[in-house]
Order: sequence, then structure tokens, then C-alpha cells
Amino acid sequence: SKEQMMEIRKQNCMTMKITYYKKPVFIHQGYMQWLWDVDGKRYLDLFAGVATVSVGHCHPKVTAATQRQLKKLWHTTNIYIHPELHEYCDKLASYLPDPLKVIYLTNSGSEANELAMLMARLHTGNFDIITFRGSYHGGSQQTMGLTAKSSCKFPIATSSGCIHTMCPDVFRGPWGGSYCRDSPVQTIRECSCAQGVCIANKHYIEQLEETFATSAPSQIAAFFGEPIQGMGGAVQYPKNYLKEAYKLVRQTGGICIADEVQTGFGRTGSHFWGFQGHDVIPDMVTMAKGIGNGFPVGAVVTTPEIAVSFVKASHFNTFGGNPLACAVASSVLDTIREDSTQQNSLHVGTYLMTQMAKLRDKYEVIGDVRGKGLQIGMEMVKDKGSREPLPPEAMSEILEDVKDTGVLIGKGGVHGQTFRIQPPMCITREDVDFFLAVFNKAIS
Ligand code: PMP
Repeated sequence: SKEQMMEIRKQNCMTMKITYYKKPVFIHQGYMQWLWDVDGKRYLDLFAGVATVSVGHCHPKVTAATQRQLKKLWHTTNIYIHPELHEYCDKLASYLPDPLKVIYLTNSGSEANELAMLMARLHTGNFDIITFRGSYHGGSQQTMGLTAKSSCKFPIATSSGCIHTMCPDVFRGPWGGSYCRDSPVQTIRECSCAQGVCIANKHYIEQLEETFATSAPSQIAAFFGEPIQGMGGAVQYPKNYLKEAYKLVRQTGGICIADEVQTGFGRTGSHFWGFQGHDVIPDMVTMAKGIGNGFPVGAVVTTPEIAVSFVKASHFNTFGGNPLACAVASSVLDTIREDSTQQNSLHVGTYLMTQMAKLRDKYEVIGDVRGKGLQIGMEMVKDKGSREPLPPEAMSEILEDVKDTGVLIGKGGVHGQTFRIQPPMCITREDVDFFLAVFNKAIS
């Protein structure tokens, strides 16, 4: 019963600080974009287990591939050569540009980023790693250091050597944290000048140069950046910002790492990888979440040159690249292609953005609507003039109301002020219309 589950949760499950709903949701079944609770109530899932279920819950093709592999071989160590690992690495590599061709499989995003940090330090011989404010890169001790969000860190256990440079948040301004509004939002969004750098962008890039010059001398091993910040609240960067950051990092001898844990596998719609939307090629890419449609898989992909440094120590993980995980991940890649998942992300995501923008114009409490494809954020404010974040109680009231009417959405942002829409990428325009009706009612 629900009461028994709550009792066990209290006694035997480690308490989590994150609380989404006052009235808990008891989920027990899923299919494509839908979830059902233990009472049979159906929910439209617009959060996908934190942007993870990429092609759909229990997608029939992925389920069938998993069942085939379950009967064949679940596990063997990478000491032995098994076809699933090699087939998958070959397939995944074909989705990445040269020279990103060497793959190491992990079990999560944190593990992938942890290894990426290690490889960057081994390769460069430097220690410091730069990330943006508002970033989230994982919950292991090292990646907690990378993660900027203070509520996700335990100060006593957070590793050193991580520098959080300025926040590129266009809506709140480069200094973040406060309710800064000195950023000329429209100018930056609409920048299309020939050089690709308008006055406003220049202002941002000068700030970036200054930050690099003052806070990161010659010790830089790497720069980590999510192509669009996920937990940070779908934060996008001004045009050319990431490209300029890459240039500055490379000038110092550091390497550039794209954290594609949320943005990869077609989520941004226009490209398969988020970094492609910034016209950059990283030296290393980390991925997880959508790679396995909910099955625990992660990966680090890098260049042959950087990969060589990693052989200096004998690193080993038991489960990374196991046959079952490889079969699942391989089927996810096939499904993305066969179902035109990326195209759907672009098509439905563009429709959702357009409709959300209409709601933003209608309501004083929707400050900003942003994102790409099916990685969308709605920043909630007390009023558009002050841009002060909507208080947590009001955020939870909306979240609860939307859930009670049958839609699950996410939350993020430095002040917990941004609703996040990152659904399984199989959702339809009809689903969007349903959500809009529900959200409209909750807000009004
Ligand atoms: N990077 C990003 C961008 C993430 O959003 C997350 C998880 N929210 C991670 C890394 C860590 O992944 P995991 O939870 O699988 O360890």
C-alpha cells in the first residue's frame, strides 16, 4: 500500500533534500510519453526522469532489443572482447566529428565527468578546471567541485581546483546570483550582425576575457560547459560565447569539454549534439541520461591524442560497456534514426516555444521562455519589471496543480525559479496543446 511505501521510504531509504511534490506521486508504469500511478491515473511526462527517457518509456524497439540481449549475455568484463561493445563504439563514433573517436563507457554522467577531469589533468599536467556559474556536472566528490550550484554541494567534501567563472545567463545578466537585469536581452537574442558579434555580445565576451585573465592563469587543465545549462534552468549563452571561451581556454593550453548529458542525442532538435549549435568541436564530450533511454549508461569520447594519456594508469570499471548496456544504447541510436526523434524534437519543440512565448506575453509571472528543441525553460518572476524570482511556495503551487491535472514537469534554476520541459522526444503537438491548456489554467 501507499502507507507501507511511505513508511519504508522513511525508515530505509536515504533522505533526499529534493522535494518536488507535497502530495507524493506513486509511479509504477510507463509507455512512451505516458506514466501511470498505482491508482491508474495517467500523466503526460514532460520531464522524462530528468531529461533521461529519450525515445519513450518502455519503447517497444528498445525493449525488444533488451530482451534479446537478456537471453544471450548480461555481463562480462572488458578483459574479454565481446561484439556488443565494439559494435556500439563503432556506431556511436559515427555520430561524432573527427577527431572525437575514442570511447570509454561508464555507468552515469557523474562517472563520465569524473573521468573526463582525470583525463584532462593527465593530458595537460595542469590541475584547474573552469566551469560556468549555474552549471551542474555531477554528484561525485570531484564533479561536485565542478558543479556550481551550492545546494548540490557538501563543502567539506568538495574537491578543489574548480573555478566557476561568470554566469552567462542572458536573462539575469553575467553576474548571476542577484536579480541583475542589466543585460540587453533582446539585443543579444536578435544579434545577427555580419561579424556575429554585436555590441551586446562584445560586452559579454569582454567580461569573459577579463574573467579568464584574472582568475585563471597558466594552470588550466580544462573548461567544462553544457551547451545549454540543464539544472541551471535551460540557460543559453549569447552568440559566439562558447566559441570565444574555447578560444581562451585553448590559448592557455587547456582542453575544452562539452557536457552533453542533457543536450545530446537530438534533444536540441537542430543538431544531434548541443555543441554543434555553437560551431565548436570540443576535445572531449561526456554523455549519459538519454544515451540509454533510462538504462544506466554513460560515456566519455575524446581524441586519440588525449586518450593516450589515460593509459598511464590502469583504470578499470566493472560495469562500463557491459553487453546489456551496449545492446540497449545501440538500439536507442537506431530508434532515434528510425523514429526521426531529433526531427520531432525540432518540430514539436519549436511549436511549444512559439505557444509558450504567447503565454509569456500574456502573463506577468512568465519572465522568459528559452531553450532549443525539447530542452525548454520557463523562468517565473514576481513581475517582469523587477525580474525577482517567483517565490518557492508559488512555484510549488503551480507544479502541484499541473501534476494534479495530469502533467509532470521539472524545476531548476539558481533560485529554483525555472520550470523545465524536457520530455521523451516522442511527444506530439496534441500533447503540447494539452499541456498548454493545463499550464494556462494553473497560472491563471
Ligand atoms: N551533467 C549534467 C549536465 C547533468 O544534468 C547531470 C545530472 N543531472 C550530470 C552531469 C550527472 O549525471 P548522473 O546523475 O548520471 O551522474
